[in-house]
This record gives sequence, C-alpha cells and structure tokens, in this order.
Amino acid sequence: MDVTRPFRIGIWIAWLLIFPAASWYIYQQYPPTISGFEIDVFVFLVFMCIVATLPIIVNDTPIFFTHGVSLAVFLVFGLFVEMVLFQIAILVLLLKVHVTRNNLFRLPMNSLMFLIVSVIGAVVYYSLGGQNGIIQLNSVASFIPIVGYIASTFLANNILIHIIRRVVYKRDDHFFTRDLLWEAMTSLLVIPVGVVLYLLYIEIGIISTFYIGIPFLSIAIILQLYHSSQQVNSYLQKVSEIGHQLTERLEVDQVLSLFLAKLTKTLQVDYAYIIDVKRNYSFEVLRYFELGEDKMGNGYTFDQEKGISGYIYQTSKPVLFKTSKEWNHLALANAPEQAESLIGVPIKRNQKIVGIIILLSNKKRAYEGFHLTIVDILANYLAVAIENARHYEEAKKISEHCALTKLYNYRYFENKLEEEFIRLTSSKLAMDLSLILLDIDHFKGINDTYGHQAGNEVLFELARRLEKSIGSKGTVARYGGEEFAILLPGFDPFASYEVAEQIRQAISSEPFIINHHLAETNQEVEVKITASIGVATAPEDADDPMTLIRHADRAMYTGAKQQGRNKVAQYVK
Ligand code: GH3
Ligand code: MG
Ligand code: MG
Repeated sequence: MDVTRPFRIGIWIAWLLIFPAASWYIYQQYPPTISGFEIDVFVFLVFMCIVATLPIIVNDTPIFFTHGVSLAVFLVFGLFVEMVLFQIAILVLLLKVHVTRNNLFRLPMNSLMFLIVSVIGAVVYYSLGGQNGIIQLNSVASFIPIVGYIASTFLANNILIHIIRRVVYKRDDHFFTRDLLWEAMTSLLVIPVGVVLYLLYIEIGIISTFYIGIPFLSIAIILQLYHSSQQVNSYLQKVSEIGHQLTERLEVDQVLSLFLAKLTKTLQVDYAYIIDVKRNYSFEVLRYFELGEDKMGNGYTFDQEKGISGYIYQTSKPVLFKTSKEWNHLALANAPEQAESLIGVPIKRNQKIVGIIILLSNKKRAYEGFHLTIVDILANYLAVAIENARHYEEAKKISEHCALTKLYNYRYFENKLEEEFIRLTSSKLAMDLSLILLDIDHFKGINDTYGHQAGNEVLFELARRLEKSIGSKGTVARYGGEEFAILLPGFDPFASYEVAEQIRQAISSEPFIINHHLAETNQEVEVKITASIGVATAPEDADDPMTLIRHADRAMYTGAKQQGRNKVAQYVK
C-alpha cells in the first residue's frame, strides 16, 4: 500500500479548502438548536466515541454501531450536530488504531468521506419531507425519510470506500461482494438501535443513552473477550501443527526454512532473525527474514555482550516490546530503522541457551502477551527439531563415509552411481559419465614390511591426494580395501583418461612418508607407492551401473596390472 507524497499533501489541501467552508455553510443552512441541550449533545458524543472504539466483533468482523447513534443524533438535532459528532468519533477511532506518520492522510480523507456521507443522507432525508426534533413515527409514511436516510448513507459510505480502495490503494476490488452483503446485514441490525435510542430519548431524555448503552457495552466487551480467547485457541492449534511439521523435517536447513516461513505467516513479522549461540558464546545469524524474503545468514557474528540478543542471553527470558522507544537503548547499530514492536525469545536445550529468535514489526503494538507465549512454545519445538535434524545429519554422514580415509564409502558410491545413471538416461543432452577404478600395487608388501598401521597411513594419505586432484570435478570413494573409485559426470573417455593419468602421477611422483611400525624404534620411512588404474565411460562402454564397474575393473586388471602395473588403461571392447 504505497500512497504517494503528492497525493497525501493533496488530501490535506482538499480538506483545508473544503471542510471549514462546508461546515460553515451547513451551519448557516441548518442552524442547530441545541441551547439547553448542551449536556445531552455531549453525552451523545461520548456514547458515539465509545461505540466507535468498541465494535461488537462477530466472526472476526467488527460491527460499528456508530451509524445507529448518529441516526438518533441526526433525528433529534439535525445535520450540523450529527456531522460534528461523527467527525469527532472517527477521529477518536483513527487515533486508537494508531495512524503512523505515513498514514496521517487518513484523517483528512476519512473526515471528507464522512462529511459527504452526512450531507448526502441529510439531503435525501429533507427532500423526502423529513424533519428534525420531535417526530411522530407511528405511520408507515413517517418512516420513508428515515429509510431514505439509511439507504443513502449506506450506499454513499460504501461507494466512497470502494472508490478509495480503487483509486488510493490501487486495489482491484469488486463492488458487489459478500462483504457488502455483510455490511448491509449489519446496517439492518444497527438501524433499529438508532430508532429505539431516538424514541427513548424523546420520551425520557438523555438517560436513554444509559439504558441502550449498558447492554450494548456489555455485549461488546463479552464478545471481545470471547473473540480473543478464540484467537488464542486458533493460534495454539496452528502452533501444534507447526510443531509437528518441524519435527518431521530431517535436515537443519529445512527445519529453519519451515520455521521462518510458518512464523512469518502466523504473526505480523517484517523482520525475523534466528541467531545461533556458538560454543565460544559469540552469536551468529543463521537465518534472517527481511521484507518478505528468507535469507541465509552470511556468517555474520557479533559479540554477545551487546544488543537485544545479548540482553536476552543474559536475562535468559523472553521479551516483548511494543514500541521502539522501549528497546532503543538495547538496539544494535544495524537494527531495522522502522521497526517498532519486538519479540525476543531464547531457544533453550537442557537449561542452556543455544539460540535466540528475534521478531520485529514496523507496526507499534503489533504483539500481545499471548504472541510471546506462542513464539516461546515454537522456540521449544524448534530446539527439539534442530537437535533431531543434527543427529540425523550426523548419522547420515557416518553411514556414508569411511572412518579410516574420511572418503565416501561403497554404500554412498553405489547410490551416487545409480543417481548419475538415472540422470544420464533421462537427460536429452549427450552426456558422458566416466568411472575410474584404482587399485594400489603390491599393497600387501607395505603391510608385511611396515605393519598394518603403516598401510592405513598410506590409505589415508592417498585419499588426500585423490581429493586434491579431483576437487569438485567428481566424487571420490573408497571402493574396497585398497581400491578407490572416482565418478566423473560429464567426462568423456579422453578427459577421464587425462584425469586418471594425473592421479597416477600424483601417487607415483612423490614418496609416501609413513611410520615404520615393525621397527624396534618408531621411525619415519619414505615408501614409493604406485597404483593401477582402469577407466570406462558410459554410455559408450556400459548401459547400466554394474556393467560400468565391471568394465572399469577389467580395464584395470588386464590393461594395467597385467601390463606391469603403475599404468592407466581404458576399457576396450
Ligand atoms: P596387487 O594389487 O598389485 O596385485 O597387489 P596387492 O598386494 O595390492 O594385492 P591384493 O589386492 O591381493 O592385496 C590387498 C591387500 O590390501 C590385502 C589386505 O591385507 C590389504 N588391505 C585391505 N584393506 C586394508 C586396510 O584397510 N588397511 C590395510 N593396512 N591393509 C588393507
Ligand atoms: Mg585389491
Ligand atoms: Mg592391490
């Protein structure tokens, strides 16, 4: 909802030009006769302001009885008094919903709108023969001006709101909607209140506002209490749903994404930060949400002493601030400038703070106490979900890696090969998938001469050399005892042969430094290691994963081992 500055200024100028002149003109044309009734008018005004700020909420929709009271005021005192009272009531309402500086133009805009509505209603009423003061309402004919007044104010009000929505807020709304129907129904409810108030006022005077007002206020308050407990219930339901979904996620990133997405949809959030409390007690922003976007933290860490997170960390308690004035003294230098409301909650696990959640809204008083409770509950769910996800990730890592060389293991390699084959066959592009198999030459000899432990050291060092040569080009795995596999997607026979040759040289050119575990004193020795390497490429050499492995293996044995070792051999049909 972006309303341009010239428009806002224009509205103020229009108001200054129209409102005083119109008020003066109305005063002249329909001079009010209130002398002796000043107190009555004042009581009506108070009643109207209360009614404007305490709507009866049914099904999440507020019903304002202001029009009902204003009808009574109009019938008794005429257009001018009705108009002035309505203006004041609307001003009070707008002040209660906290117009921000950018929204200040709503004051003159609404003032003009209700001025027009008042005038249209009165013109219709008078032209249908309606009068002010004490009117007999016992014939059908006497109701016609009142019906005209009600219908015309209703229509004028809704048409003007529609125009404002389309022109000012650029919303593509239709005029005839369910909302309009609902408005019409509630107007039907409001009008009898106005007529009864009028009749009672004529009979017994201003005490009538008391008789109408007491039941009215009780119902409004009861329904508001009911509404807020309903709201809390529906929030709790959402929270439990989110909690379940969170614990179903397997990876930490997924948990955080889901958490941010759900949280920012459930509450009014303009900025959200999930902060990790690191082992050295510094803070790192893991994820943040700004202006509708979920972003990864960029490793930004900061000192725990400072800012809101530091405050929450030290007090170990959730905080709720309704305006920026309340938390400005704690803020970080880079806190969003427009932010007003703030919720901050520590994420605790086993009595320790492992993280902090901070939510901000640009609106003042956007959060209530129960919102804080909800974020607190969600923080607990988040802590459990993250711990589970971390365990899962840890277990997955262990199950996919070889403990000795830290490379991927055969299980992972097999799945990866399967995956790459599916990609190969489903891709429309002509893509190659090469496999390099490597077996260390005379490895038994190393074990026998220097000990099994020394053999392990060779395997570890060889794994590092393989990783260094391959980098992100492909996947290096320990295939078996002293055999390694390297998967190279997108590498044709020539390119993969070249990679294999580089690997062969990376192994044979530099001796391996290991500990002589069988010697009396532990001493370092240099050993020369070589490997025999076989290469096969799909789809040329194989149509399925198993065949690709078999052919690379055959190339290694017949083309490299049998030909004298320390060689690279390509599969030949
Ligand atoms: P070549 O391949 O050149 O024919 O000779 P080789 O000596 O390497 O022959 P072979 O493949 O038969 O021997 C493999 C040896 O690797 C046997 C086994 O003791 C050793 N080995 C397998 N796994 C490990 C391991 O995890 N650590 C150590 N130290 N040795 C292992
Ligand atoms: Mg072997
Ligand atoms: Mg071997």
